[in-house]
Amino acid sequence: MFSSKEQFKRRYLQRLEMMYGKRFEDTTVMEQYHALGQLVREAISSRWIETNEAYRTTKQKQVYYLSIEFLLGRLLGNNLVNLGVYGLCEEALGELGINLSEVEQCEIDAGLGNGGLGRLAACFLDSLASLDLPGHGCGIRYKHGLFDQKIVNGYQVELPEQWLRHGNVWEVKRADKAVQVRFWGEVETYYVKGRLSFKHVNAETILAVPYDMPVIGYETNTVNTLRLWNAEPAPFPTNRDALTYKRETEAVSEFLYPDDTNDEGKILRLKQQYFLVASSLHSIIRSYKKHHEDIQHLHEYVAIHINDTHPVLAIPELMRILLDEENLSWDEAWSVTTKTISYTNHTTLSEALEKWPEHIFKPLLPRIYMIVKEVNERFCRELWELYPGEWDRIERMAIVSHGLIRMAHLAIVGSHSINGVAKIHSDILKMREMKDFYDVYPTRFNNKTNGITHRRWLLKANPELSTLISESIGTDWIRSPMELRMLEAYADDSSFHHSFQAVKKKRKEILAHRIKQQTGIVVDLDSIFDVQVKRLHAYKRQLLNVFHIMYLYNRLKEDSDFEMVPRTFIFGAKASPGYHYAKKIIKLINSVADKVNSDPRVAPYMKVVFLENYRVSLAEEIIPATDLSEQISTASKEASGTGNMKFMMNGALTIGTLDGANIEIREAVGEDNIITFGLTAEQVLHYYQKGGYTSLDYYHHHKSIQTVVEQLVNGFFPNVGSEFEMIYDSLLEQNDEFFVLKDLSSYSLAQQEVERVYRDQRSWYQKSIINIAKSGYFSSDRTIKQYSDEIWGLSIR
Ligand SMILES: *Cc1c(COP(=O)(O)O)cnc(C)c1O
Repeated sequence: MFSSKEQFKRRYLQRLEMMYGKRFEDTTVMEQYHALGQLVREAISSRWIETNEAYRTTKQKQVYYLSIEFLLGRLLGNNLVNLGVYGLCEEALGELGINLSEVEQCEIDAGLGNGGLGRLAACFLDSLASLDLPGHGCGIRYKHGLFDQKIVNGYQVELPEQWLRHGNVWEVKRADKAVQVRFWGEVETYYVKGRLSFKHVNAETILAVPYDMPVIGYETNTVNTLRLWNAEPAPFPTNRDALTYKRETEAVSEFLYPDDTNDEGKILRLKQQYFLVASSLHSIIRSYKKHHEDIQHLHEYVAIHINDTHPVLAIPELMRILLDEENLSWDEAWSVTTKTISYTNHTTLSEALEKWPEHIFKPLLPRIYMIVKEVNERFCRELWELYPGEWDRIERMAIVSHGLIRMAHLAIVGSHSINGVAKIHSDILKMREMKDFYDVYPTRFNNKTNGITHRRWLLKANPELSTLISESIGTDWIRSPMELRMLEAYADDSSFHHSFQAVKKKRKEILAHRIKQQTGIVVDLDSIFDVQVKRLHAYKRQLLNVFHIMYLYNRLKEDSDFEMVPRTFIFGAKASPGYHYAKKIIKLINSVADKVNSDPRVAPYMKVVFLENYRVSLAEEIIPATDLSEQISTASKEASGTGNMKFMMNGALTIGTLDGANIEIREAVGEDNIITFGLTAEQVLHYYQKGGYTSLDYYHHHKSIQTVVEQLVNGFFPNVGSEFEMIYDSLLEQNDEFFVLKDLSSYSLAQQEVERVYRDQRSWYQKSIINIAKSGYFSSDRTIKQYSDEIWGLSIR
């Protein structure tokens, strides 16, 4: 149906009028969107069926990527690109007087994730399908994704997100594949033929109903599946009050938890985790058993990957199935389980390591609890053999201790592979955070540096740049992103510079238009677009950026001769609703923006913009327009970062600390093509262990830092009262845990270096082009190939 424009137009008009029972001229853009989405889904349905059939008949190994988050964003445009029909549709629709880009903007982002972790899962799905690898996502179909953010009077206000408001054209409900998930109740123990058996009785059963979404590879016939589970009441009598039961059941897939670091000890969260795992494993094993005889060979045909510890109950749940339903012995079951499961660690922040109190865990999941206890006892016994008498070590490493179940320990003990997400992060895991485990299981630890799909983040998000690249080096880079390295030959090419400049200008115009429309602020297109967009977190140090802006503002006010290269400082960030400190920083950014944007003295030099509701579709507009990418976390804290890669791929220069994947970006582009500053991870960790940094002393010795910090509390910002005392105290009373003051002067010097380079436009473009040229390594295609070869053992279908 996409074979020619004429045929497409005919089919599209027919469908549109049939669906809505009115003339095409009278349809709304939303209706036009739904009709197009339906056509796309139909167009791929035979490939979807064929892919699944091929997987069944060849019996090749499949990977199931279990993740509590999938931050997909919009799908229409990307699906059209991957089908290779975007251009055809754009033209055909244009002839009908329909603007495809407007139609695309009708789609509400599927925002089933908080940030980097969920977006990584989405990029991985795209790479799996595009590389023809048999890999599927398993997640939860939250009714409400991450909250919508409004800024009111400078404050973040959260509204419930409603992505399913107009229905979801991409999903197919598979009611026939629903499975039962059990909570609460008790476990009865009895003997059958001399074997100890277990029965979960008096449980509350709920239904998990799968909704499948096709994952379309780029110009390939592979269509994989993202299976999202919806919680529904079971259609049989319970002894519960019907309304309460319905409400409690539906709550399980109602909201995404809006906290990307620490999980409050909420029963609902644990229910969500088990719900995801139990339903996914049930369907994985059901499908395996249809085509295979022997469950003991499971790991030869199935790999199960857990994205962080949220799905770690896959380990005891698989044990439960193998022991209680398949009647394997403990040792047999344990061998199959550990060979099947692999785990990615995403953070070393201790507050983010999941720990569940036994008193919550045990009543909710009684059989799973028994298995976790048994895993723990056997593990501790092994440790006792290895380290006789070393009680401290064994207690440090135990899975269950002091009434808490440590999910990361369970994940390490129960999987055959544990990976970090950037070199430095994997090293910190091995050498520090998980050293005890590395000593016991050295071969399990490995690194898989994160990546991003260059198809969404370059080809789709920045068609102007993509066209320029293809005109220069051909189109091979789209299939093989390492080919972007051919652009290096254009680093000094003035005609390429000229075209690149025009592309950047065009993208800056588009973003400037969005800024004007959303905030009323008019920005200077010749200014440096200096961007920090990511979740709001103390360790990501939006505060460092804000302090630098205040410092520049003060200099401009004090010194009438001071000049600087004009800048537009752009922020976008959601704060977790309960994270008061992060919310104060949002208010501070907006207060600085008000101050700066209304001051005629600084007007020629700077504007500060906070764009509300940062999400994937907004990122796609911001990143291509960026000149300078802010990646300024406290060294050692940002496991990898993926925002940094998106910017680099679009030709922004990075100003950043030596943290996460910034280090590998520096290795790739060379130190002349990135601006780094600040403490190293080693220095930061040394201060944490040995002390030696006193923020108050530092503050007293640096006048300009003092001025900025005082402005938080001395009435500099009108109408905020004692609002920012919390930030002030974190710096001076709590000794500046994230080294904001300590790194401020080297940050400011690095920003002067940015200016120096920007003044020499040739040099700037040269560096930009080298960044793009070296970004191929950070395609998630490379990452997924490594997972596939080194962890999952998949072969191309
Ligand atoms: C890529 C991405 C992130 C992750 O950004 P970092 O800078 O790596 O923290 C978060 N949110 C959205 C919407 C993204 O697209």
